[in-house]
Amino acid sequence: MATPFQPKNNSQAAGFSQKQLIERIQERFENLSDERTGSNISYQMSDAALSAFSVFFMQNPSFLAQQKLVEKSHGKSNLQTLFGTHKIPCDNQIRNLLDAVPPEEIYPLFNFIFKGLQETGYLKPFASIENSLLVAMDGVEYFSSQKIHCDKCSTQTLKNGETHYNHKAITPVIVSPKQSQVIPLAPEFILPQDGHEKQDCELAASTRWMAREQSLFTDQSITILGDDLYSHQPFCEQILAKNWHFILVCKPDSHQTLYEWLEDFERIGKISAYTQKKWNGRQHITTEYRYMNHVPLRNSDDALMVNWCEIKETNEKGKVIYRNSFVTDFEITDDNIVEITAAGRARWKIENENNNTLKTKGYSFKHNFGHGQQYLSSVLATLIILAFLVHTILEYFDACYRLLREYLSSRKMFFDDIRALTRYLCFDSWTNLLEFMLEQLEIPIPN
Ligand SMILES: [Zn+2]
Repeated sequence: MATPFQPKNNSQAAGFSQKQLIERIQERFENLSDERTGSNISYQMSDAALSAFSVFFMQNPSFLAQQKLVEKSHGKSNLQTLFGTHKIPCDNQIRNLLDAVPPEEIYPLFNFIFKGLQETGYLKPFASIENSLLVAMDGVEYFSSQKIHCDKCSTQTLKNGETHYNHKAITPVIVSPKQSQVIPLAPEFILPQDGHEKQDCELAASTRWMAREQSLFTDQSITILGDDLYSHQPFCEQILAKNWHFILVCKPDSHQTLYEWLEDFERIGKISAYTQKKWNGRQHITTEYRYMNHVPLRNSDDALMVNWCEIKETNEKGKVIYRNSFVTDFEITDDNIVEITAAGRARWKIENENNNTLKTKGYSFKHNFGHGQQYLSSVLATLIILAFLVHTILEYFDACYRLLREYLSSRKMFFDDIRALTRYLCFDSWTNLLEFMLEQLEIPIPN
């Protein structure tokens, strides 16, 4: 099998090009489940999946309609040249075909990219405490309706008595306090599970994700980051059983026993404290750290003993500008408390850099593209996350893409320009499109 990784040399970064990634995506999509029988099949599954993916990749809900016009005037379209589709299905055909595809069939693409990043050393700058990768977990809603629903919808009764139907997923991402980007991993959907009467929940879905993806991290340990919901003993035990680590938000309201112990230790002066003052470019910030190792997570004889820490930042006026507390399995010392709290704090990136980007930065994650009868809404959500991942990867490996993204300052401007160009012109390849843009902007094309 051809590998997309080129041997690393000093002058050129090894990695993925858009063409190689699309080829790999095509190959996976050609093998998606196809329930249709008979010979009267005018569209291939890969046409449906690539067409849906192209809409998210190009951040253009009208991309397919536009490409039908481009095909009329040019004899071919950007959907064919940039994404390799054969024919352009209509929206309803896409929805019908994708509804039968379990999203798990797309997950191997995420793992393929992760392995590629690992092999080429691009994950090294992401390594954090004790050389582990920080994996932040969070739940996010991607479909909601008061009318449309299915037996896989989660439900919530609103104050006015109406039912709110929704679909949620956990969307794990690799984060680092030192990296502005995040690397999305395959999601896990919060759906009623066979044999369980109760509604599914975020913690159960996260536990399934860990079991499913365990083999991905055989060469490198990970540290799970999560909000207060995750600092729950059975979940922590699952993490430890995999020889992984955790740094989880732990609030007083939900962890009474632990905080009662801390109060007792405080009284006898056993809580360690460490203070740091730093100039942030505008003013001096005082950061106070407190920590205590070996405290029970819950009130039971078999309570898991965890290590607790707190960070509090105060500005020159004495105003508290940040405060949070965490529990972890890492033994806390004066030497690693700064690193541990920085890692725990990096959890916000899943909300800000991942979920918020998916919802508001052109990916329209919460726009209901379709609900379907079986898998449609979750397949579309998976394709959106995949598009975001491919964009992230291109910033690492595609020098033309990176230059243009920097030059055009915002993601919106970049995709607005691409939308206009691909509406009027047909480009032979992605490289051809990016080089055309660079030339028009009089930016030298990188080697
Ligand atoms: Zn549903």
